[in-house]
Formats: sequence, C-alpha cells, structure tokens
Amino acid sequence: MSTNQPAPPIDEVGALLGRMRSAASPVRDVLRELHERLSKDDSGEVATYIPELAKANPGWFGLSICTVDGNTIEFGDVSQPFTIQSISKAFVYGMALEDRGLENVLAKVGVEPTGDAFNSIVLDEISNRPFNPMVNAGAIATCDLINGADHPERVARMLNMIRTYCGREIHIDHSVFLSERMTGHRNRAMAHLMRNFGMMGEKFEESLELYFQQCSILVTASDLAVMGATLANAGVNPKTGERAISADNVKYVLSLMLTCGMYDYAGEWAFRVGLPAKSGVAGGIVAVIPGVGGIGVFSPPLDAKGNSVRGVRACTELSQRFGLHCLATGSGGNALLEALTARRR
Ligand code: GLN
Repeated sequence: MSTNQPAPPIDEVGALLGRMRSAASPVRDVLRELHERLSKDDSGEVATYIPELAKANPGWFGLSICTVDGNTIEFGDVSQPFTIQSISKAFVYGMALEDRGLENVLAKVGVEPTGDAFNSIVLDEISNRPFNPMVNAGAIATCDLINGADHPERVARMLNMIRTYCGREIHIDHSVFLSERMTGHRNRAMAHLMRNFGMMGEKFEESLELYFQQCSILVTASDLAVMGATLANAGVNPKTGERAISADNVKYVLSLMLTCGMYDYAGEWAFRVGLPAKSGVAGGIVAVIPGVGGIGVFSPPLDAKGNSVRGVRACTELSQRFGLHCLATGSGGNALLEALTARRR
C-alpha cells in the first residue's frame, strides 16, 4: 500500500468495512499489514524534556479502531499505558463548555489556530486571551474553568469525565505528574501572565496543578479509539452507552481538533488526513471519523513537529486507503456507516 494510491471506490470501501466483525475481514488485513510495515520504521525521537517521558520504549506501537457501534479492530501494544498529555486538552475543553457554557468559555479562550509551538507564550494583543485551547496557554486557562468545590473535587470530576469517554477506571501517573510539575516553569510563567491579564482567577495556581494532573492521566491506544468513537457518536460511549458530552458541544471540540489539534502540523494534517485529531507528546494520537468511529494510535518517537511518526503515517494511510477525509463528498466514512447500519437491520 503506497500513500499515493487513490482512495478506492465507495462500494469497495463499504464492502471492506462492512465486514469488520469477521475474523477474515480485509480491514483487519489492511491494519495488520500497516502495523507490521510501520513497526519497522524507527525514525523520530522520544520526548525527553520531561524526564519521566524519556523512559518510554521507542518500539511500542499500538493501533486501534473502534466504530460507533462498538466494534474494535486492533494490533500491537494497544494495552500499554502511557500519559495522555496534550490529547487531554480537547476533552477538558469539552468539559469546560459543559461546565460554563460557550460564551463564558469564549470570553477566556479563543478559537484561532496559531502557527506557533504548543508551548509558546503568546496572547492575543487585543483581548489578552490565549489563541485556542489546544496550545498550553489556552489549555491552562481552560482548566481554570472546570467546576468543583475544591481542588480534589475538580480532579475527581476530570478523572470521571475521562473515565466516561474510556469506559473504564483511569488513574494519574504520579511520577509523570511530579516530573511535569518540577520542570513546568514555562507553563507556570504562562499561568502568571494570564493571571496578570485577568484571564485566570484567584485559584490559578490550583488550575495549573490540575493541568499537570490532566496531562499525567494514563490511557492506552484502545482507550483513545473508544474516546474518539465517543466523539464520533455524538458524545455517547458506544461500548457503555454512557454520555460523556452533549451532542451540541461535540462539534465545537471537533472543530478545534481539526484546525488546531496537531501542533504546527495542523494545517497540513487537515489538508492531507482531513480528520479531527489531537496528539500528545507521549506519542498518542486520537483521530475522529465523525459519525463512524475513532482511531487510537500510540508510538513514542516524535517527528520535528512533536507528533508520533508512526501515528501520523498510520492515520494518513488509513484516511487515503479508505477515503476518510471528512470534507470529501461521499467519503468512505459514510460508506462504513451505511454498511454497519445495513447489517443491524
Ligand atoms: N505536559 C506537556 C506540557 O505541558 C503537554 C504537552 C504536550 O503533550 N504537547 O509541556
């Protein structure tokens, strides 16, 4: 399979994806081949700026797809836990929307992509807002909007939100959290700057702590696929039937994932892959095929932009192979949904 191969005709896509449940499914074969081939690609560097992250095995590679009707196909290290890191930003933004409502959130955090690095210290000159919730400044300001009577309650609510998306109990990796906190001077500087401009409240230090905690939540590639499928399924976890976010707010989260989710590769990602996605510095990527399912990839070596090398390649090939670009008319995603729906009738 080459990346230059044109997307197959819709009926082929439908036929392929319609057989997802079968052990002999061609989708399974495509994923297996992709996983096998990309496993051999050892380019990229594991992040080291947070000492705990440097301990990751560069060979880890898990690839999982979960559909809106709860089918899963996965290969490799899909049960290996790793810290969610920046991927949490999309989900915590959704939570802030639920807690405070759209207008109150927009007053503190913008929705404009930046061409800058995720940790840049830049605020909008007119409004003093951070540009968007997917860069650190915006994510830290977003944390300040999470409700709770005290800090432990806010942490518990956040963990519960991620639990609902994953459909299982989840935990914080304490050593990564301490490592983040100890080395997070830049993030601390941003919090102070935003406090200075009135973009964060009196409890800004607690909110920064909450940010470090959210980044240190442990998930797996399987979890990311289910989290993506939950967003694809209008906010309802397809495995548990539990609602994680209102359908109304899903579109705001997905819009930001599409325009700002992949650091300063976001534009090219939207262009080539065409799926709302978010990546994290531990090597995870979640991609959403709206109305269809979620893709979860985990592989620690990162490219120069900070995205998982194997993760970007896997999603790019899957999108091209199955015609998943969400702006393509009659995309393969629709065919997948039709095939799955037809089987349920
Ligand atoms: N914990 C990281 C930080 O704030 C999250 C960044 C990331 O995944 N890009 O530095």
